[in-house]
Amino acid sequence: MNVLAPARPDLRFTSEVERETAPLYDKVKKVIPEVEWPVFAPLIARINALKKQKNAVILGHNYMTPEIFHCVADMTGDSLALARMATKTDADIIVMAGVHFMAETAKLLNPSKTVLIPDTGAGCTLAESVTAADVRALKAQYPGVPVVTYVNTSAEVKAESDICCTSGNAVEIVNGLGVDRVIMLPDEYLALNTAKLVKPEVITWKGRCVVHEQFTAADIRNLRAANPGVVVLAHPECAPDVIAVSDYAGSTAGMIDYVAKHRPAKVVLVTECSMSDNVAADFPELDFVKPCNLCPFMKKIELSNILTALETGQTEVHIHPAVAARARVAVERMLTGWKPGA
Ligand code: SF4
Repeated sequence: MNVLAPARPDLRFTSEVERETAPLYDKVKKVIPEVEWPVFAPLIARINALKKQKNAVILGHNYMTPEIFHCVADMTGDSLALARMATKTDADIIVMAGVHFMAETAKLLNPSKTVLIPDTGAGCTLAESVTAADVRALKAQYPGVPVVTYVNTSAEVKAESDICCTSGNAVEIVNGLGVDRVIMLPDEYLALNTAKLVKPEVITWKGRCVVHEQFTAADIRNLRAANPGVVVLAHPECAPDVIAVSDYAGSTAGMIDYVAKHRPAKVVLVTECSMSDNVAADFPELDFVKPCNLCPFMKKIELSNILTALETGQTEVHIHPAVAARARVAVERMLTGWKPGA
């Protein structure tokens, strides 16, 4: 192996580190070149040791790169799964290997725990597309209409909302309200795709995901032409015309379940790049076509800043208690079920 000189002497790729991390490399060798492992392995070994010392857990979103997702994350999944997992951990410290709104959700559900985000710049174009004042204005415009808010929002926006949803449960949440009309924000495409599958009329907002809005129906047709027989799985943050030409639409967890159940010989996941690498590591016998749209915010999380977070306790997520109390209600209603007036 090509052993690169590390910046810190305690992060050398020694034979002990190589031995200790060998089972992890075996898991990711299809998606991480051998030449890169001596850079990752010492960081992985140090992070995993520190987690034990500090009683910390790392929650890893499906869009993390494979060396994070498969090698240091203790629990992995989509936003919904991470929110559920955050309620179950006994750890004192939660490090969110994901974006800021996910760390806020973990903090809402664990107010007494330390929740760390390794890079505070790990934002989200959906979360930035709507403010608490926008929600108040919508509620004034549509009095009495419940506000269903995607978890990809700030705590302030959640605090103005009746209930949260994720791409994995949006249809169930909207139908479960038993009303004729809902406001669904901030993702316009998720709202339009959900509107086709639910009874209530859906009032939309104008937010977009910078990753998923880039895919077009023409891209999908070109993929099919270049890869005969390919099965196309798309995320519901994509435009409705992209969903219309796909074989399946669902959250990242839904896509993983589809692959596990149907084992398509050739498959494309129309979503963020790293997701395909992570699923390919679990299903090495399948052929993954990888059209690549990176989330610049998810990619701010790296092994190096996860290590810094564990070593320094930076940066801790804080939410104003009055905001947190109201936002927590919207998240907990999503997890436990709720009807207006109940
Ligand atoms: S992939 Fe899209 S929705 Fe997810 S964090 Fe990035 S910008 Fe936000």
